[in-house]
Amino acid sequence: MRTVRSVLTVGVVTTLVLTGAAAPGQAQPQPPKQAVAVGSGGAVVSNTPESTQAGIDVLRRGGTAADAAVAVAATLGVTDPYVAGLGGGGYFVYYDAHTKKISTIDGREATPAADGPKMFIDPATGQPYPFETAVESGRSVGVPGMLATWQRALDKWGRFSLADNLRPAEQVADRGFVVDPAFSNQTTEEAAKLGQFSSSAKLFLPGGKAPAAGSVFRNPDLAATYRQIGREGIGAFYGGPVGRDLVNTVQHLPLAKNATITPIPGPMQLSDLRAYRALDAAPTHVNYRGYDVYSMAPSSSGGITVGESLNILQNFDLGKMSTVQALHHYLEASRLAFADRNRYIGDARYVDVPQQQLLSRSFAATRACKIDPARAGQSPVAPGDPYHPQGCKTVPAASADGNENHTNHFVVTDKQGNVVSYTNTIEQQAGSGITVPGRGFVLNNELTDFNFAPTQGTAPDPNLPAAGKRPRSSMSPSIVLRDGKPFLAVGSPGGATIITTVLQILVNRIDLGMSLPQAIAAPRASQRNAATTDAEAAFIAQPTTAGLEALGQSFTDVGDIGVAAGLEFLPHGRVLAAGEPARRDGGTSAAVVSRR
Ligand code: GLU
Repeated sequence: MRTVRSVLTVGVVTTLVLTGAAAPGQAQPQPPKQAVAVGSGGAVVSNTPESTQAGIDVLRRGGTAADAAVAVAATLGVTDPYVAGLGGGGYFVYYDAHTKKISTIDGREATPAADGPKMFIDPATGQPYPFETAVESGRSVGVPGMLATWQRALDKWGRFSLADNLRPAEQVADRGFVVDPAFSNQTTEEAAKLGQFSSSAKLFLPGGKAPAAGSVFRNPDLAATYRQIGREGIGAFYGGPVGRDLVNTVQHLPLAKNATITPIPGPMQLSDLRAYRALDAAPTHVNYRGYDVYSMAPSSSGGITVGESLNILQNFDLGKMSTVQALHHYLEASRLAFADRNRYIGDARYVDVPQQQLLSRSFAATRACKIDPARAGQSPVAPGDPYHPQGCKTVPAASADGNENHTNHFVVTDKQGNVVSYTNTIEQQAGSGITVPGRGFVLNNELTDFNFAPTQGTAPDPNLPAAGKRPRSSMSPSIVLRDGKPFLAVGSPGGATIITTVLQILVNRIDLGMSLPQAIAAPRASQRNAATTDAEAAFIAQPTTAGLEALGQSFTDVGDIGVAAGLEFLPHGRVLAAGEPARRDGGTSAAVVSRR
């Protein structure tokens, strides 16, 4: 049976045929991606139509947003394996409609106990390894937090078992999915990396090439792994047979015969997997013009940096400014907040992060007064002093930060009004490039998010590696309440640009009068305390750019920035599910349970 539903896209009404029940064992062509859907009874926005459908199916069967989120995340491990799946980690933000509280789970990857401060220093030279060396190595593989996060979310907010919620992903992995141009292109882009490892080449480069668009891609190893985890519980991963295979892979890298690199293995042990915990954490919170913005606390820098930027902007009335001035203030606020992020934020279990001070209005006032409406700041600008927020004071030295790669963000809501905003990743596109043989998933290279050597001059660097420490992230899964009720849920991938993408969407929606689809579709610019601002070509092409350049702003075209997914809660229990238009990185897939 096929269901025909009509959905609203940005400015256009179109008709979409969603997959109905698949004939068992048969891959179906993926339905076209829809950027926007409006309705009730629950909604999902995620990167692929299969993962969105998996979430919608769980919601239809009476699952909660947490159940559906696990189904979506596990299916993304099949259909979007270069940015998602068991080998990675992420941050899960949840609004509980019953208690009206927002909670978060930190499922970030952790450094193995046997590694530490010198892990990215080449003993032969005493110098940091080149970034490229670290990227394709066992050294960069952090202890994955993904599965522990799923189980924790289900323990707290789920109705169904882990096995039940893994089943849709198992089915897609078994029967396969029809490869779209995005998956085919990503595989081609990463072929050199994947080709270094025999297990990855076997799975992703059959016959030595990326699967062509239109062919069927199956991952029976992953289906079997999910089934085993469903049967045996997460212990199968955190200490059991799946974990043993993982540890063995990291220690003895499955190099291809024709490999051109000699990657460094990693020291991960089974005990690291046994010791891993997804951590319950309080969200960050700021009130921005009456909206309560909740996001992710350290080990992510996302919530604090978005929050500080909003607090800085609160000192100005962006809605009343010219567009050039509003954008100038947006760029300047993030420039300043990034200086503070780089100086002060790391894993708060290892370094003293002045979170309360960084999110205080009084500190934001000392940063706002640094903004010159007539002139762009000269980066690197110095960080402020959150411990003594007075006047317009700064402390010396700062540095830019530019990690940017691939991740995924998705959002789910259910008919009770619970909300999930979940950003997760294996760090770079295709992570470390290493597939665990026979298990069907790729390992992260998240530990490259540490600074390999001090970046803060004579001041301490909060993001140096240490045993057990989680590298600083930029992931900013956010939920915004108004009058205590959900208003928005939003987030994006994009490395450090995640922070500015989330900030820009909030400013577009709250200050600049855009609808959520417009706020997401609008061209992006990302200023991270660097001499020039990274921007999309469409941003640079805007008429406002000349005005910004006259103020000393300059822009570099870096291609697409981010792949956002959001929800806006409308009156009468309706929800607007909004993702990316297809032109930005292939777009995302939005759907609702009922169009009413
Ligand atoms: N590893 C990055 C972070 O945690 C995310 C990577 C990405 O978005 O591409 O900030």
